[in-house]
Amino acid sequence: GAYANVSQKQVDSVCPFCGVGCQMTYHVSDDRIQHVEGKAGPANEGRLCVKGRFGFDYAHSPERLTRPLIRRAGVPKLAADVRQRLTPEQIREQFREATWDEALDAAAAGFSQAMASTSARGRLGPVAGFGSAKGTNEEAYLFQKLIRTAFGTHNVDHCTRLCHASSVAALMEGLGSAVVTNPLRDVEHADFVLIIGANPAQNHPVGATWIKNAVKRGTRLVMADPRRTELARHAWKHLGFKAGTDVALLNALLHTIVFEGLADTAYIDKHTLDYAQLKAHVADFSPEAMAPVCGIDAATLREVARAYATAGNSMILWGMGISQHTHGTDNARCLIALSLITGHIGRPGTGLHPLRGQNNVQGASDAGLIPMVLPDYQRVSEPAVREKAEQLWGVPPGTLGSEPGLTVVEIIDAAFDGQIRAMLIQGENPAMSDPDANHAREALARLDHLVVQDIFLTETAGLADVILPATAWPEKTGSVTNTDRCVQLGRKAVPAPGDARADAWITEQLARRLGLAWTYDIAADGTASAGAGRGIGAVFEEMRSLMPSIAGLSWSRLQREGAVTYPVADENDPGHSVVFTDGFPTATGRARLVAAALTPPDELPDSDYPMVLITGRQLEHWHTGSMTRRSTVLDAVEPGPVLSLHPDTAARLDLQAGDLAQVRSRRGEVRLAVRLDSGMPANTAFIPFAYAEAAANLLTNPALDPVGKIAELKYCAVRVDRAGVL
Ligand code: SF4
Repeated sequence: GAYANVSQKQVDSVCPFCGVGCQMTYHVSDDRIQHVEGKAGPANEGRLCVKGRFGFDYAHSPERLTRPLIRRAGVPKLAADVRQRLTPEQIREQFREATWDEALDAAAAGFSQAMASTSARGRLGPVAGFGSAKGTNEEAYLFQKLIRTAFGTHNVDHCTRLCHASSVAALMEGLGSAVVTNPLRDVEHADFVLIIGANPAQNHPVGATWIKNAVKRGTRLVMADPRRTELARHAWKHLGFKAGTDVALLNALLHTIVFEGLADTAYIDKHTLDYAQLKAHVADFSPEAMAPVCGIDAATLREVARAYATAGNSMILWGMGISQHTHGTDNARCLIALSLITGHIGRPGTGLHPLRGQNNVQGASDAGLIPMVLPDYQRVSEPAVREKAEQLWGVPPGTLGSEPGLTVVEIIDAAFDGQIRAMLIQGENPAMSDPDANHAREALARLDHLVVQDIFLTETAGLADVILPATAWPEKTGSVTNTDRCVQLGRKAVPAPGDARADAWITEQLARRLGLAWTYDIAADGTASAGAGRGIGAVFEEMRSLMPSIAGLSWSRLQREGAVTYPVADENDPGHSVVFTDGFPTATGRARLVAAALTPPDELPDSDYPMVLITGRQLEHWHTGSMTRRSTVLDAVEPGPVLSLHPDTAARLDLQAGDLAQVRSRRGEVRLAVRLDSGMPANTAFIPFAYAEAAANLLTNPALDPVGKIAELKYCAVRVDRAGVL
């Protein structure tokens, strides 16, 4: 018929946006994705949200990088260029096209030069890398292996540091493992669900549909968040507590459970340590004492605590509202204690689920894109761990140091101070995503050598010396791990544009030029295997030989089954969606209860900056916007940056919907349109961080949680003023 000459195919893959990990089918003709359909994967059963369904044509954007670029001689790197928003054409003009050989040689030469400039190694060495939670597991694994073995440093991190680093620190300390205990869909088996500091309707939308379904069937939902977000409509109670007072609220719940005799003493005796200390600590945190601190009345606090403790199965889900605080680790410690002292863990419909944001932040963390640990969270401080990796990687004994590397914000500070001289950044955009973006941009501009692999000329790439054009998600095959610990397979559906090449291929080419004897034969076009079977599958097989959690998951099994949930010990092990059914992976087999002190946010409002700023995401746009703002439908639905204010707050500031507002903090300022939102708390502003023209992170506070090293992106002091009419 009429379409006979059009090449059509359907390719099954996984959504490239959030950690829910929905399976989908790309419908392709003439090498372009025409539309996307939901597929029956374990996390979504065919459901997709607006991002998954419509956010695909970024891959075909005319703005894609298609040739390697090298900064023109004599063109300085100026943070001000990014700050003042030179047009993409003006930024592009600062670079010239190069061949792959030329660009890779220049990339490697810059790193060699940086290494030659100092004898310092380890965290004081001159090189650092940011890998990506948007790539495949194999790409993440190769990236950390490159940084660690080529530069002798553990200065390798990624956006987990801006995400759940504090949750991970608390979970490792308490449970000996940072994985989710139960999958998101377990809300179907829960009688009670507490969601705190998360907005699943916007950030994990298909997950939110399972929550709504559960509520319809009788599950009691409590939404605890300073903002009243969409799921609150479905909740039994919304606890709109004062931003930054999480520990007061949660310790009051713990107090009620402990002192009203609702704790599960049999479980505590058998499976936990330090209950007596926790009990003594929370004695001072009665609901009556905490009500004025957190803004929730004592009777409600007691009612919620009783309901959580006495329900048959209770589950806790949380997000960045818990983790992105200077007291993020303390917040997570309280949630862990809640589940442990009630025994709501280790069964279907119970447990702890820190909702992972990026599609592969779980996998990238598992694969070792973390400065303290090698793959599978094996500590770099353990000699046996380092020895095993050195043997597997064929590098001389002693190549891997015992000292953890620097974390994201520490690396940026070290670049600012001149300690870090060169960086490799794969698919991350710290010029937009890091706190105090002016400082981050200045730090990146000061580097002697910055190499960026990406699919677009991002704000970060604009400060690079060498830009290497990479493949988008639908252009490559590899594994990806969702928030449920489910490893799935992304499959190549379309070719990359122009001369763009697969990230894993780029990493191998760099490794060879930096003197590493890598013997993979990774395909440049993003297909799984090349040459004598030494492609992506070989990388996965190498990974699993180092990672007990996926020991039983072979590359061929993954291709056959398409989705397997770890831990998976051997080929016959079906995988386990619920863990810690009988004890914990700690030295004693017991979990540790850790008391949390009440500390205020780092920067409180004052007369100069009298309001609180909360940053976050929105349904249609993803993180720094590099993909979704280039997706036609999503960009049409949400075309520009907005400042959400409660109508009363807006009225006090003489602002109406659509007016232009100026928002200032001690670190920067942005201008954007006002949107009225009656779910906002008083005296509080919310700005999504996806918009370069009003980058929320110009305002945010880089103060760190002392344990998780995560910045306080969820709280800083700002001033909002009228700036005219748009
Ligand atoms: Fe993609 Fe997440 Fe939406 Fe699913 S819920 S379609 S994984 S963005």
